[in-house]
Amino acid sequence: MKTKIKLPRLTPEQAWVLNQYVMCGETHDKELLGKAQKLNEEFIDQYWKTTSVDLYLALSMRSLEDIQGAESICNRLEDEGNTVYNPGNNCTTSRYLKHDLEKYMLSKTKKGVVMDAGTKDSGGKFMELCFGILVHRLPGFMLAENEKQYKVYHDYHPISILLGPHVCKTQESLLACIDIETDRRAGYNGETKEFRDEIIDGRRTTICKNCDSIIRRYEHDLRNPRRC
Ligand SMILES: [Zn+2]
Repeated sequence: MKTKIKLPRLTPEQAWVLNQYVMCGETHDKELLGKAQKLNEEFIDQYWKTTSVDLYLALSMRSLEDIQGAESICNRLEDEGNTVYNPGNNCTTSRYLKHDLEKYMLSKTKKGVVMDAGTKDSGGKFMELCFGILVHRLPGFMLAENEKQYKVYHDYHPISILLGPHVCKTQESLLACIDIETDRRAGYNGETKEFRDEIIDGRRTTICKNCDSIIRRYEHDLRNPRRC
């Protein structure tokens, strides 16, 4: 196990009670809410001072199970020595401040954006993934541990086809793909070892050997040069 470096964050229960209060004005546990609010303010101050983070985790906040699932992924990534920003812990009463902070943390992310498919589709996490790939030129990763979701994300989802994130079914596979991209960005010449090129429907296509995801479809149609 590598050295664990952890950004502070709320427990899933604290994050959930705060999220429910901010989004719906609901609270059933005032003591837990008060503690979560106080810690949240302290943590946000620390996030603004962060100069570098390895991975940004995009997730849904639709249920306590979503947040608990994200916590488990954060722990697994941290066990491998990654620092992880989990925006699910960034609950503020100002939606502008929340999004400013998310943009700031994406700008400080070095290794990539990991999207946890969670239990339900929601738009926000896809936007964070796309923003990271397109604006910050970061590698993108989707983790879909549910068989049905995995098939859709891996084979058919427009983001997979258009932007080429690594779509992984297990946390182990995700960690391997993160290492592949980290080596590639560090200049390690592993391109031929970790990726393969195929001609699919007339176009050169680069595929990750570990997760079998399409990473890049080249524009040039080899069968008909006019259809580029
Ligand atoms: Zn991969």
